[in-house]
Amino acid sequence: MGVKTLNISDIQGKKVILRCDLNVPISDGLIADDGRIVASLSTIKKLLDAKCSIVIIAHLGRPKGEPKPELSLLPVAKRLEKLIGVQVEFSESILEASHKVAQLSPGKILMLENIRFESSETSKDESVRSKFATALAKYGEFYVGDGFGAVHRKHASVYELAKLLPSAAGDLVRAEVEVLEKLTKSPERPYGVVLGGAKVSDKIGVILNLLDKVNLLAIGGGMVFTFLAAKGMKIGKSLVEIDLISDVRALLERADNLGVKIILPEDIVVAKEFNAISTPTVVSSQDIPDDQMGLDIGPKSALIFASEIKNCKTIFWNGPMGVFEFPNFANGTKVVAKALTEVDGMTVVGGGDSAAAVRKLGFKDNEFGYISTGGGASLEYLEGKELPGLAALS
Ligand code: AMP
Repeated sequence: MGVKTLNISDIQGKKVILRCDLNVPISDGLIADDGRIVASLSTIKKLLDAKCSIVIIAHLGRPKGEPKPELSLLPVAKRLEKLIGVQVEFSESILEASHKVAQLSPGKILMLENIRFESSETSKDESVRSKFATALAKYGEFYVGDGFGAVHRKHASVYELAKLLPSAAGDLVRAEVEVLEKLTKSPERPYGVVLGGAKVSDKIGVILNLLDKVNLLAIGGGMVFTFLAAKGMKIGKSLVEIDLISDVRALLERADNLGVKIILPEDIVVAKEFNAISTPTVVSSQDIPDDQMGLDIGPKSALIFASEIKNCKTIFWNGPMGVFEFPNFANGTKVVAKALTEVDGMTVVGGGDSAAAVRKLGFKDNEFGYISTGGGASLEYLEGKELPGLAALS
C-alpha cells in the first residue's frame, strides 16, 4: 500500500493537523511507558523545523464517547513538552478550540483533549463521523497521519478527516508500513512468527493468512490452551475458547499439509489461582491437572522456542508467552525476548503492549530490529486487510 510521503515543500509554514497515537499506559496520572510519545517525535520535529503550527489530535484508552478525567491527555501533553523542549498548549474543548488554533504561531504546538471523549469520533454512522471531521478540518490546512496504532480504525480523525484536507503519512506510519511490507513481500527465510497473548479469537485471522507465508509458527500465552485442547490434551482450568477448537484443529491440519512447522509448548508453568503469589509448578502440557491453570510456557519449552527463533532470519513476535505481569510467570516471555535479541536477521516486535512488556522486563528498544507501536494495526496488516487510515493516505 503506497502511502503519500511527507514533502516539506507541501507543509512549509502551514497549520497542520497531526493525528498521533499517544495511547500510552497511564495509572494514577503516571505514564508507565512513553514509547508511543517517543515514536511520534520524529514527525513533530520535522513539522516544527518546517515552521508549521501543529494541532495534535490523539486518543487515550476507550472513554466511550464521554469525558473521563483518568483518560485525559494532559499528562501526555506535559510529557511531550518535556521530550521535545517546546511548549505544548492544551485545549480541553475539542469542538471549541478555534480561538486557540487561531492564536497558534509557527513552530508552536496545541494538543486537543482525548478525541474519543466525543462520541462522533468512533460513531458507526458515517454521516456523524463526517460531520465531526468537517468541524475538525477547520483547525488546519494540511493533515498528517502518524497514528499507526489507530490506522485500522475507521474513526473520524483517522479516516474521514484525512480525506478532507491535503494529506500525507508521517515518518512513523511510513516506517511501520515499510517494515510490514518487507514482512509480507520479501521476508528472508526461515521466517518465523511467534504469537502469544490472551485470545485465539484476536489472532486466528492473522494465523490463517500467514500459514502459506511462514516456515515456523510458535504459539504460547493464554491462546495456546485452545491449541492443546484441539489436540485432545487436558488443560485443567486454563484459558480456552471452546467455540474455536474445531477451527484450530482445521488450522493445524492445514499447517501440516503446507509443511509449516508448528511449535507448541511441551511443558507448562501452572498454578491454582490467577494471581502473583500462587505457587508455580511445572507440568507436562499433555496433562495439566484439573485444579490448575497454565500461566506460562515451561522452562524446557522456552529453550526450544528460543533455539527455533535463533535459527530464523526473520521473526515477527506479538503477545506475551505467559502472564508476564507476575514475576513467577514471566520466564517464557523473557527467554523469547532474549532469543529475539540474538537473531541474526530481522526481528519485529509487534504491538504497543508487547513493546511495553519487553521494556518492563528490562530490554532496550535498540536490542530489537523494529518495535511496532501498533498491535491490532500490525496484525490486521499482516492479515491482509485494508486499513482505513492507510487507505485514506494512499
Ligand atoms: P494480548 O493483549 O492478547 O496480547 O494479551 C496480553 C495478555 O495476555 C497479558 O496481559 C498476559 O497477562 C495475558 N496472558 C498471557 N498468557 C496467559 C495465560 N496463560 N493465561 C491468562 N492470560 C495470559
